[in-house]
Amino acid sequence: MRTAFAVLLLVAAAAAGCLQGSPPETVARPRPPSQTVRPEPDPPPPVAAVVAPTPLPTPAPTAPAWRPVAGGGGVLDAGHGGNDEGAKYFGIREKDVNLDLVLRTAKILGAMGVDVRFTRRSDIFVSLPERSAIANRNPNAAFVSVHCNASGRNPNAHGVESFILSREFSDEEQCRRALGRYKIAGKNREQSVRDIDRLIRTCRAEGQILAAALQRSLSSRLGDIDRGVKPGNLAILRETFFCPVALVEVGFISHFPTNRKMASTPWRDLAAQALAEAVAAYLRKGS
Ligand SMILES: [Zn+2]
Repeated sequence: MRTAFAVLLLVAAAAAGCLQGSPPETVARPRPPSQTVRPEPDPPPPVAAVVAPTPLPTPAPTAPAWRPVAGGGGVLDAGHGGNDEGAKYFGIREKDVNLDLVLRTAKILGAMGVDVRFTRRSDIFVSLPERSAIANRNPNAAFVSVHCNASGRNPNAHGVESFILSREFSDEEQCRRALGRYKIAGKNREQSVRDIDRLIRTCRAEGQILAAALQRSLSSRLGDIDRGVKPGNLAILRETFFCPVALVEVGFISHFPTNRKMASTPWRDLAAQALAEAVAAYLRKGS
């Protein structure tokens, strides 16, 4: 793991007044917290990581100059896994498509010189809190959760859509919840509150940009409908505090024509290319 645990459980969090003295800042690229956020020895992490994030090989010397946002790279999350198959239609399982796409995407990003980590890289079950905890340990990485959509009611539904955390969870609420789990080591509470507040606001705004990049790239590459970026109350979005995060539904596995494409290598290569290009384009903006 490149960065030691970035954030740790805060045993007693006095979350009230979390934003006092912390006026909203204009959105800027996240600052690198990896130097400022350090583990503390005593409390255990909120969850045990089942899959240790494994960086891809470092970029070849010939790779183009790369200045990802704060050196954060990407964390790729293949939705479902193990006994959680996700949606299953016409003989293919969502968990398999998600994993294959993530592995293909990582290969492309690795060749671009982007540092990539995973929540899983095989067919195993990883809980949602564990997935978010892995992202939270890699602050400022672009966190992309890859899924396939499904509609049992409407077999004709198709297209690409992405989710970011619903505004029913305010920045203040997210800050309070983050302070219940994490602190910034080496800083007093006021400093931690200020920094966590800034990180959360910045990462939420950045998540929207990341989701929009994914939508553009996937819908144009795959020639599918852009169904837009939507607000969602999803655990993976709710529990990821310190990374720009987007959950992307690359297509409808329940839509027979899409399903047939999903089963094919050319479609998967195309989707992986689109995912990689979106992450790369997003990261380049910070350079
Ligand atoms: Zn799914």
